[in-house]
Order: sequence, then C-alpha cells, then structure tokens
Amino acid sequence: MKKITSVLLAGALLGSVLAGCGDSSDTKDTGAAGGSSDRGKEPSIGVAIYKFDDTFMTGVRNSIKSNAEGKAQVDIVDSQNSQPTQNDKVDMFITKKTNALLINPVDRTAAGVIIDKAQKADIPVVFLNREPLPEDMKKWDKVYYVGAKAEESGTMSGEIIADYWKAHPEADKNKDGVLQYVMLKGEPGHQDAELRTKYSIEAIEKAGVKVEKVAEDTAMWDRVKGQEKMAAFLGSNGDKIEAVLANNDDMALGAIEALKAAGYFKGDKMMPVVGVDATAPALQALEDGTLLGTVLNDANNQGKAAVTLATLLATKEVPTKDNVGFDITDNQYVWISYKKITKENMSDAK
Ligand code: BGC
Ligand code: CA
Repeated sequence: MKKITSVLLAGALLGSVLAGCGDSSDTKDTGAAGGSSDRGKEPSIGVAIYKFDDTFMTGVRNSIKSNAEGKAQVDIVDSQNSQPTQNDKVDMFITKKTNALLINPVDRTAAGVIIDKAQKADIPVVFLNREPLPEDMKKWDKVYYVGAKAEESGTMSGEIIADYWKAHPEADKNKDGVLQYVMLKGEPGHQDAELRTKYSIEAIEKAGVKVEKVAEDTAMWDRVKGQEKMAAFLGSNGDKIEAVLANNDDMALGAIEALKAAGYFKGDKMMPVVGVDATAPALQALEDGTLLGTVLNDANNQGKAAVTLATLLATKEVPTKDNVGFDITDNQYVWISYKKITKENMSDAK
C-alpha cells in the first residue's frame, strides 16, 4: 500500500518528468545507496567510474554515494579500465531510462560518442575527473564537467620542490647549481598527467631554479608501477637524482618504497618527493617525513558537486550557483580548487 502511495505521490510531484519512466519504481533494487522507504520518487543516476581500483576515484565514489543519500538513487558501476565495457554500461543505463548519467570516462576522447547517445535519449550527462575535449562539450547544452584545473596542481607541486631546494643547499648533491629530477607521469593523454608534468617543471623554473630531467616514464597512476619505475631510475641513474615529482600520490608512495629499499630516509640520505591528491596514506607519509608535499585534489567536493548537478539535471531543473552550491563557469564547468599541502598544514586535508 505504502509503495502504491509513494508511486502515486511521485507521479503527482514530478508530473511529466517521469512520463515514459514506468520502471522507475522497480530500479530500487539496483541502487548502490541504502534503502529508504520512499526512494521510488528519487531520480535515478547511472554512474560509471573508469575503474574502481583507483585510490583517488574511490574517494570520489564514496562522496557520490554519501551525497546522494535521500536525494537520488545512484547505480555505480565499474568500467574496469575498458572503454568498450563503459560503453556497454552506458547503453544499459539508457535502456533502463535512467534520469541522468554521471561518467568518469576511461578514455576522455570517447566522451563524444557518449554525448551523442545521451542526447538522442534526452538524458543529461555530467562528466567527472577526465575532461572531454572542448569540441565534444559544445555538442549539447545538457553536458557538464566537474573537475579541477590540472595546471594549478602542477604549479603547486613544482613550488613545493622549489621552496625546498632554496631552503636546503645540500639538496644540490653534485653542486652544479642545477636540480636533477625524475618524473613519474600518470596515464599519457589524461589532462592531469600532461599538465601536471608540464606546469610543475615550469613553476620550478619560474622560481629561478635551473632544472635537468634525468628520467621520465609513466607509471599509470599506480603505486606498484611507481615503485618499479623508481627502482629502475635508481638502478640506472642512482646518485644523480636530486628530486622526484609524481603526478599523483600513489606513484609518489611507490617511489618512496623504492627509495627506502635503496637506503633513503635514513641518517642524512634524503630525497624530496612530491605527489598530488592528499590521500590518507600520503598524509601518513607526510607525517613520517618521507613525502615532502602533495596537493589536495578535493574528492569530497568533486563528488558532491557532480552528484548534485546530476540530480538537478535528472529532475529537469536548471543548475545555478545557488542550487548546485558551486560556481558554474561557461554554463558547463564546475572547477574545484586545489590546495598545497605540506606537513605544516596537513590538517587542512583531513
Ligand atoms: C588523480 C589520480 C587518479 C586519476 C584518475 C587524477 O586526478 O590525481 O590519482 O588516478 O585522476 O583519473
Ligand atoms: Ca645538481
């Protein structure tokens, strides 16, 4: 009886919004969120994450789940780092007539295809963390992107290294006045990998420090790969290396493992290492004194902004700064700020 009442109520409240969505009440059991008794009237959001096994995206995923509670029924699926798998999931959401899509693309250049499908079915899409190309964003006005300005995080991590270099003359191990560094890059083609790599080095140079790249390789955002690549750098270039820049914390933490195995962080054998994200294990490493610094990539607010935006779009409301709670730039973008984190201000990231 209660179920019938809530379905009737939903119909009355949302009127034509739910027309054609006759299956909205039986999607209840597919939701990832816990069950409240009147979820039948909550809009449904199909969420596809590029892969569940990513530390940063796990934080975003948890934020999406908790911020959806009582507002939307989210069905969160793992694309397992495969664009074809993600496309199948999107097709499934469209068949189920989900009210909005929230997509963290595997390959950001695949966003155009997803937009075409969504537009045909009139289902708004919010992209997250992997920025579609501008020409794809322009295809439809019911497409949004929530993310952070990659260049900002690059600049901040470079500044942390430059400050350390200036305060620690002994960091110039070969006394040539040049900072010899290695770069652990995220996934090639990902805006955060490309721009953090570029802007971190530019920031060091802008601070008046001369640099020389000893080695650079991708470790695909991954801790184990970060450790392997760093071990290889140490094997071939050993004592030449004076700083390690990693595009994210997982790779930085992997590098720290390799450095520890090579005898670093004992006595006066130091190595400045920076990452990005400010994950919990990275904050622990800051506290331990192995990680020099990181940049807060705000998973909580990115998840919150994305699911709030998707919920509004799902109920055909026009998103504004007031109802989203975040600024909307160029009618389609929500940018969440980064923050520099060192041991001194660690509590800001907790
Ligand atoms: C994060 C990485 C993460 C990647 C996933 C980046 O913004 O810094 O840790 O692996 O997004 O797309
Ligand atoms: Ca040097």
